[in-house]
Amino acid sequence: MTTDKRVVVVGGGVLGVSTAAHLRRDGADVVLVTEGELADGASGRSLAWLNSAGSRSAAYHALRVAGIDRYRTLFAADPGRDWLRFDGGLHWATGSTVAERHRAEIAHGYESHLLTPAEAADREPGITAEAVAGPAVHNPGEGWVSLPHLIEHLAAELTGRIVTGAGRAHVVVEGGRATGVVTDGGRRFDADVVVLACGAATSAVVAELGVHIPDASPPAMLVLTEPAGQRVKSVLNTPRVALRPHPGGALALDHSWYEDRISETADGEFAIDESVVKELVAEAAALLAGDVELTAASWKLGRKPVPGDGEPVFGELAEVPGCFVGFTHSGATLGLIAGELLSHEIRTGARHPMLEPFRPDRFRP
Ligand SMILES: Cc1cc2nc3c(=O)[nH]c(=O)nc-3n(C[C@H](O)[C@H](O)[C@H](O)COP(=O)(O)OP(=O)(O)OC[C@H]3O[C@@H](n4cnc5c(N)ncnc54)[C@H](O)[C@@H]3O)c2cc1C
Repeated sequence: MTTDKRVVVVGGGVLGVSTAAHLRRDGADVVLVTEGELADGASGRSLAWLNSAGSRSAAYHALRVAGIDRYRTLFAADPGRDWLRFDGGLHWATGSTVAERHRAEIAHGYESHLLTPAEAADREPGITAEAVAGPAVHNPGEGWVSLPHLIEHLAAELTGRIVTGAGRAHVVVEGGRATGVVTDGGRRFDADVVVLACGAATSAVVAELGVHIPDASPPAMLVLTEPAGQRVKSVLNTPRVALRPHPGGALALDHSWYEDRISETADGEFAIDESVVKELVAEAAALLAGDVELTAASWKLGRKPVPGDGEPVFGELAEVPGCFVGFTHSGATLGLIAGELLSHEIRTGARHPMLEPFRPDRFRP
């Protein structure tokens, strides 16, 4: 089914680009408008572990599993891509939470195995068993993606339809519905439907429309190491560092323990002491088998998009017909499925049942 709807998507992260690419596949007349460059927000500094690990609502789990499924389809089309891999995940923690997590995962059919440290190091020869503090959960179905690579891949379907460096865009409302966007520079894009995929800025953008979507986006950092000749293939979630391989033989690292050591200036710039970066890299190096020397090549800071209640926000604003929102944490895992389902809703005018629990109007007073 095709549609002749004109759609403006605001935001050049994974949610915006995926939604625009799916709309284009569905035949819509799409333009993507973004403030700066593609992937310059959270999508350019994401660990992007593809998972539904741990416990959560059945609806959210189902959406994430569908998200992983779409990545598997993309992977199967070309298993040689170095920016999308499915080599499993390993998790360990201090205390008794590991066994509980394993039980919760088993209960909803998520493949999960409880391993001893020696078994974990057997599964993942890139790590040393001594670094594994107690039992570990192995989730063989998990993977990771490099979002800038995915965005470049999807953007190839949008040639001539992407406007970067547009400055901030604002929704235009006329006759009680969204009719397009206007940028700070005064450029106007008319549309039948507007999609806001503005990451951590989403709450501020909808506030201009008098719509309240609470924001809980914390500061975060992703470190990329120099290529290191290490052999890790899985995504590792450990008490002091989370890491995954990165194209070119590097590692991507993050965690939350240093969150309160990230400072923000009045003009919205983020900073961290380099000693924290070094400490995170040392935590990663301590996990690795063999004599691997790790050094940081770069680190990026900014907010990680998280809606106020921690659940995704997808769908049309009840207050502003014609204006859709996509705002979520775990936006790497949900990137493909969210774009597909939002495009489906815009194309058909029918609400998709999988998005029903995640509507923006749950925050209306
Ligand atoms: C350190 C870190 C680790 C993460 N780990 C994982 C993980 O392991 N698994 C997982 O699934 N997810 C993870 N995430 C979350 C995931 O990366 C994000 O949810 C996802 O990238 C968000 O994509 P987005 O398109 O919504 O937002 P963004 O990538 O932030 O893109 C928003 C875009 O909108 C633009 N924009 C904003 N306002 C306007 C405006 N008014 N006009 C024009 N343009 C505008 C911005 O410039 C930006 O380009 C992580 C995130 C971080 C930061």
